[in-house]
Amino acid sequence: MKLIINVHIDNKNNNLVNILFDDKIRKISEKDINISNCEIIDLKGKLLIPGCIDAHVHFNDPGYSHHEDFISGTTAAAFGGITTIIDMPCTSIPPVTNVKNFRHKLEIVQPKALVDFAFWGGIRQNDFPLNEKQITDLWNAGIVGFKIYTISGMDSFEALSYTQIAKTLKAFPEILFGFHAEDETIIKQNSVFRKTAENYAKIRSIEAEFTAVKNILNFSENAKIHFVHISSKKAAELILQSENATFETCPHYLQFTADDLPKLRGKLKTAPPVKFAEDRDFLRQCVHDEKVDFITTDHAGCDFKTEKDFADFAKIYNGIPATELMIPFLFSEFYQKEKTNLAAMIKLTSENAAKRFGIYPQKGSLQIGTDADFTVINLQKASIVDETKLHSKGKYSPFDETKFSCSIDRTIVRGKTIFDAEKGILQKAGCGKFIKRN
Ligand SMILES: [Zn+2]
Repeated sequence: MKLIINVHIDNKNNNLVNILFDDKIRKISEKDINISNCEIIDLKGKLLIPGCIDAHVHFNDPGYSHHEDFISGTTAAAFGGITTIIDMPCTSIPPVTNVKNFRHKLEIVQPKALVDFAFWGGIRQNDFPLNEKQITDLWNAGIVGFKIYTISGMDSFEALSYTQIAKTLKAFPEILFGFHAEDETIIKQNSVFRKTAENYAKIRSIEAEFTAVKNILNFSENAKIHFVHISSKKAAELILQSENATFETCPHYLQFTADDLPKLRGKLKTAPPVKFAEDRDFLRQCVHDEKVDFITTDHAGCDFKTEKDFADFAKIYNGIPATELMIPFLFSEFYQKEKTNLAAMIKLTSENAAKRFGIYPQKGSLQIGTDADFTVINLQKASIVDETKLHSKGKYSPFDETKFSCSIDRTIVRGKTIFDAEKGILQKAGCGKFIKRN
């Protein structure tokens, strides 16, 4: 048993509490917990929240491990206070489109994982006509949902047409689908613009995102759908009118605009691109008002010199490694600066994602008997981003040199301290566990 003492959590009277736990949470009390033979961790008034979830990462393992692998990716997550990541199906070879590929990936990444992890599966044009059994078997293996692209640059993971999407949604009403929504036809039409940093948000435009969202919502009826990395006000507003669709946005859309692209170039290039001040401000308001369902990073790192540092903007690889920075960014910008309430911060950083992806209350809660996953934040200790020291293989960030007014103090997964601000990583790769959807 271990005992955390003197810690703030989201409770009514704001009194300090003590938490008794082994791999599960056993007791939370404002009163002293007297127990012999247990390790005592005095957190001296720091803030403790349910272990944070990054529900959208590309850790690229196996297949693209020169970009990232599960050791570097989950190390970055641990440094960033993330206790569970959900990895995308497209950026591994073979992609997670059937149970055989799922098992293959699990076998390779499990011994490398420092934090807990779940998987997205995927449906590609390459898989049509659909094999229903293949899809339900993969769903039953415990993946959180199926990712679908409306535009894709990957031959190994082709986008679906709207007709194919409509068919898929209809065939599997019980399954959750996650969409990368940007309309391919509009983007192709916009290619009359030169592919420069200045034009990037005009090519992969607001209209492209809005049109894809609109088309998908039009034939979604009662389907379970989630939109990943929403970047524009217009698309977000449309999703907010729908009853069954959820959406996420990412730190870069909350901080930067297309005006930053000519200067930050490769450090900020991702798809969809950051949009305009009105979009950023609307998405920030959605965070403050809890209208967005949760925040993810769309973490995708690579070697900057060989994949990002080009004069020709079109050649620059799309992706920003951010799993290490999301929680300090959100708590600094929203909890501390904007005074967003703590219950909202917890929903946005763990609870809502855990519920949407069927891993609640095991993850995303501080309920008795659930996993002892904790993110401890030091609100008194500021941190400055140094991209050269990131633990992702991608040593670059649009947030380089940004000062956050807080920092991660500890990352605890199922009762074990994985990361400690003073001592660094304390556990061996392989302690992270696959989390199956309920
Ligand atoms: Zn992504």
